[in-house]
Amino acid sequence: MVQAAINSEALTVLRRVFGYEDFRGSQREIIEHVIGGGDALVLMPTGGGKSLCYQIPALVRPGTGVVISPLIALMQDQVDALRAAGVRAGFVNSTQDMQARREVESAFLAGELDLLYLAPEGLGVPSTLRLLDRGKISLFAIDEAHCVSQWGHDFRPDYLALSMVHERWPDVPRIALTATATSATHREIANRLNLNQARHFVASFDRPNIQYRIVPKNEPRRQLLQLLRTEHAGDAGIVYCLSRNSVEKTAEFLVANGIVALPYHAGLDAPVRARNQARFLRDEGLVMVATIAFGMGIDKPDVRFVAHLDLPKSVEGYYQETGRAGRDGLPSTAWLAYGLADVVQLRKLIDSSEGDLAHRRVQSKHLDAMLALCETVQCRRSQLLAYFGQQGQESCGNCDTCLSPPESWDGTIPAQMLLSTVLRLDKERNQKFGAGQAIDILLGLQTEKVAQYKHDALSVFGIGKDLSKSEWGGVVRQLLAQGLLAVEGDYGTLVLTAESRTVLSRERQVMLRRDVLVAKPAAAKGKQ
Ligand code: ADP
Ligand code: ZN
Repeated sequence: MVQAAINSEALTVLRRVFGYEDFRGSQREIIEHVIGGGDALVLMPTGGGKSLCYQIPALVRPGTGVVISPLIALMQDQVDALRAAGVRAGFVNSTQDMQARREVESAFLAGELDLLYLAPEGLGVPSTLRLLDRGKISLFAIDEAHCVSQWGHDFRPDYLALSMVHERWPDVPRIALTATATSATHREIANRLNLNQARHFVASFDRPNIQYRIVPKNEPRRQLLQLLRTEHAGDAGIVYCLSRNSVEKTAEFLVANGIVALPYHAGLDAPVRARNQARFLRDEGLVMVATIAFGMGIDKPDVRFVAHLDLPKSVEGYYQETGRAGRDGLPSTAWLAYGLADVVQLRKLIDSSEGDLAHRRVQSKHLDAMLALCETVQCRRSQLLAYFGQQGQESCGNCDTCLSPPESWDGTIPAQMLLSTVLRLDKERNQKFGAGQAIDILLGLQTEKVAQYKHDALSVFGIGKDLSKSEWGGVVRQLLAQGLLAVEGDYGTLVLTAESRTVLSRERQVMLRRDVLVAKPAAAKGKQ
């Protein structure tokens, strides 16, 4: 197909079927590339308009576009919405009855489907594979592609099977899409899905209309109420809590205080969940109090705030959840209250989780990165973007650290102590250790491991007794966050970075946040 023809056909479909005047961002480029038969890997934030990137090519190219999505619960709604726009769409998954499945299958075989939604486990079922072999496929779209990454935050084993799509259907173009990917996850997606030769489209992850704020938690529900009353009266929003119990309690608390709020978590009956979700989408100014079970694929443009009453487990999760605010581009708030008790609880969850050691280490890294974001004295937005490998401005002017710079203290000396410990272990002993051992050395603790490696003979042994263990933990996390220290390998060993030298040579001052360092371990048991 010649380029001009592709352009006009895609634009016609955009206007006629979807009713939009023009493409957004890089949609046009992506769509043209896929219509032309190219493979694509698309990184675009939530609300960026990923769906059209495969829906339009599926409508323009001959055959059926097969969409792999883990969001089984949403397939019905997605398909209904497409049908309402006149698109011939169907889905095959474990929730549907035989009759419905047969109808979809015969429509597919007769070439009467534009889009077929499929759960990833479907590709492990021989009968489904045979079905696909018998029809004509225009493209494969792999939605939520970060699920293929074992180092990402939302790994799904079924996604690993998707690597065979390319082998089985080498001539069918593939487009993989995700809204969260660090550069490591990005690489892993490309490798696992065989998309190294594909064109990669990486949109900016900045959501300039979202104001990021992270505050220490003291009376979380009161703090939340204050936020809602002073800044978001009558607004629609989502409040995320870690546990079902805390979802229930928080919803009750808000209702008792005159806020229209509903609970949502996996422990509620399906009809109740569906009803609450429908009300959230339809009513104005409703607050949904939910676990992270809520929100995937929810497209409500005027969510004015997303509040977290507990610390998210990863920056990816935080970004995805806060990204549900302000899809309409109007000013919105992402507010998070976190305390040391959260950290203790999440660490416990990780330690007691079923996964193997490698998996627990990944989770622990994710938590560290999340904490680093909480504890930064720098612009939250630029740090968030840096996490996803993107450059932002030095200060955005629309996050709490930019708007009211946090109280900080000169942590240059502790930073030097820590960096020298890492340096000495490396230079004098040719050893690498994790943060725990470095901190034990600084505190001068006579542990078994200290004795075993004779670390008490190091000149830095015991020079850091002025700070507590948890304060040292804060120093480590903040140095990691500022790129003055790095972790390496599966064991999370500490290594110096190119920038570390500037601290050791006193060319550079290291400012650390005060508010995150006050909590001594005992305080973790107190009220949060
Ligand atoms: P994502 O999957 O990236 O989160 P969606 O595909 O759900 O985003 O799109 C987000 C919203 O933007 C949807 O309401 C969609 O209809 C709308 N949208 C997408 N592309 C355009 C466009 N070119 N013009 C106007 N609205 C668009
Ligand atoms: Zn900022």
